[in-house]
Amino acid sequence: MSTRTLYPAERGDLRLSFEYFPPKSEEMDAQLTRTAATLNAYAPEFVSVTYGAGGSTKARSLTTVRRLIDDCSIPGTAAHLTCVGATRAEVDAVVEEFAAAGVRHFVALRGDPQGGIGAQYQPFPDGYENAAALVAALSRSGRFQISVSAYPEKHPESSDVDADIDMLKRKVDNGATRALTQFFFDNNDFERYLERVRKAGISIPVVPGILPINQFGQVSKFAGLCGARIPEALSARLAHLDESPEERFKEATHIAAEQIVDLARRGVRDFHLYTMNRSPLITAVCDLVGFKRTDEAVVEGAAA
Ligand code: FAD
Repeated sequence: MSTRTLYPAERGDLRLSFEYFPPKSEEMDAQLTRTAATLNAYAPEFVSVTYGAGGSTKARSLTTVRRLIDDCSIPGTAAHLTCVGATRAEVDAVVEEFAAAGVRHFVALRGDPQGGIGAQYQPFPDGYENAAALVAALSRSGRFQISVSAYPEKHPESSDVDADIDMLKRKVDNGATRALTQFFFDNNDFERYLERVRKAGISIPVVPGILPINQFGQVSKFAGLCGARIPEALSARLAHLDESPEERFKEATHIAAEQIVDLARRGVRDFHLYTMNRSPLITAVCDLVGFKRTDEAVVEGAAA
């Protein structure tokens, strides 16, 4: 393992969380188990498992959450939960299933409209109208920690950033205690957004979502859909490397690590990493930054 780090590891003041998605096959399932074991060596504050809008991944999300809690011994596993396309009673029943599996932390979301990003959102009959309503319901039970989404570059459906911040405020007023952001690549966007959030009187932690770029083409397409801007300087470093896996890996590692270290220098201490269920790039980024590992043997033995 390289000892070179971009941030003084001995400070140990940076915290991580990792996001996973429910695997679609046995092979991907095994990969996630290896990845979670590997990344667990960084002692994440929590890990989270996504949930398909309209409940499309309900069974797989539940299985994944159970596996992470029971088999991988990650008690702080959070379940994402969307309320789009379902009645309140259906969503409440899913909450109870997750709670029975040991979940005490939800990432409460509205979800993309049925028809996908860009389609017109319609609240479902007898459903929670948006994420703020879902947060209120989860909070009423008093059993859960509640995180929500935030959008430093504006949600694609929002008229402007102020509308987004109003929605974040409603979610916080209803009981959310942490916001996890959509991924972004320009830290100035995050800093500007955070200033506006604080001016609006929102004081909960706003944790930047970091997406290390494995495949540039794929990420640019996805970023376009989510309204995340890819700066020219970043494209210039990565766009020509899709056919050169080793160089691409190295460059992607540096880009994400530099982004984290720059945010750390601006005072950020918590980072939510979108893992895509793979450990090598995430491990390389964490090591280059200087995140502390609790068990190197696990990392070396389980790398996938
Ligand atoms: P909200 O917070 O309710 O709204 C988001 C923004 O959209 C608001 O700021 C508001 O200004 C605007 N808005 C909302 N409703 C309207 C309206 N009717 N008209 C105009 N503007 C409106 N999706 C999944 O399916 N599964 C997941 O597991 C998942 N995890 C995510 C995790 C994170 C950290 C993030 C950032 C996003 C995630 N998403 C996930 C994507 C999310 O579901 C979509 O972005 C969805 O479109 C909005 O859900 P939300 O909870 O952010 O909505």
